[in-house]
Amino acid sequence: MTARIIDGNALAAQVRGEIAQRAQALSAQGETPCLAVLLVGEDPASAVYVRNKVAACEKAGIRSLRFDYARDVDPAEVMRKLAELNADASVHGILVQLPLPPQFDEAAVLEAISIHKDVDGFHAENVGRLSQNREAFIPCTPHGVMKMLESVDAPVQGAEAVVIGRSNIVGKPMAMLLTNAGATVTVTHSKTRDLAAHTRRADILVVAIGRPRFIGADMIKPGAIVIDVGMNRVPDGPDAGKLCGDVDYASASEVAGAITPVPGGVGPMTITMLLENTVISAQRALARREARS
Ligand code: NAP
Repeated sequence: MTARIIDGNALAAQVRGEIAQRAQALSAQGETPCLAVLLVGEDPASAVYVRNKVAACEKAGIRSLRFDYARDVDPAEVMRKLAELNADASVHGILVQLPLPPQFDEAAVLEAISIHKDVDGFHAENVGRLSQNREAFIPCTPHGVMKMLESVDAPVQGAEAVVIGRSNIVGKPMAMLLTNAGATVTVTHSKTRDLAAHTRRADILVVAIGRPRFIGADMIKPGAIVIDVGMNRVPDGPDAGKLCGDVDYASASEVAGAITPVPGGVGPMTITMLLENTVISAQRALARREARS
């Protein structure tokens, strides 16, 4: 079997086109979507992520504000900026790029963001709402994965879904979204006994570990949908230094029914969902404004 490729670049381009139209319509009604991004320190990877997010906003007609702080900044200064942005009605989304330097209490920073502007979906209240299947901002990477499953009409309801990884930003919200969509979900992690016994019965396998090409064809059920969230560098061999996923794409695509590549899979969908969350936030703000008038 040769798997169908779930093309994240193509899907992201399509969804971003729709987002740009929604942003334009909101601007015409006086509610131009606006995302504020805060970056602390000079970590090169974080700087690239922030640059990409700001550039994607511009392309979609979303206003962006960027605030850069030195690595040794007093956390109180960042907290003051968050309070100011929370109170600014023209700002719809606030994102603090993680990780933060050690003088910060990361959880306290995330919870200082208004839940109405928490477009990353990391605030404890949004996490709780998601677990209760109520309206919430959904973390961007798992939200993007759900869009990818939808794009191939994956029969999620009743499916056996296995998630590898239990992080707050990918694994746990992914498991909640799949549960909410009616899948029977197993969450696995580094302490799981006999990982392959779980993965081999997955109709939908979502892999978010952070280990290059860790999941081979022998761990995949024939015909399964395989979503590879991992972003790693190939450690050695002819492809050394190139970007790769957690799944051994070459062998897995011979067994799976559908698979996401790396690069060009989940990655492009993550920023896309950040744009979508910002537009959703602006739509909610407009609805609140109209309800008041
Ligand atoms: P993380 O916080 O490091 O979590 C990794 C998870 O994998 C943990 O739950 C860990 O288990 C589990 N794990 C580690 N080794 C394992 C093993 N041998 N068997 C089974 N489970 C194992 O990472 P993350 O933030 O979730 O990210 C995961 C990967 O996705 C990374 O490669 C990251 O770069 C990538 N990522 C990509 C995007 C994107 O947009 N494409 C977005 C976010 C993350 P324990 O909990 O027991 O330690």
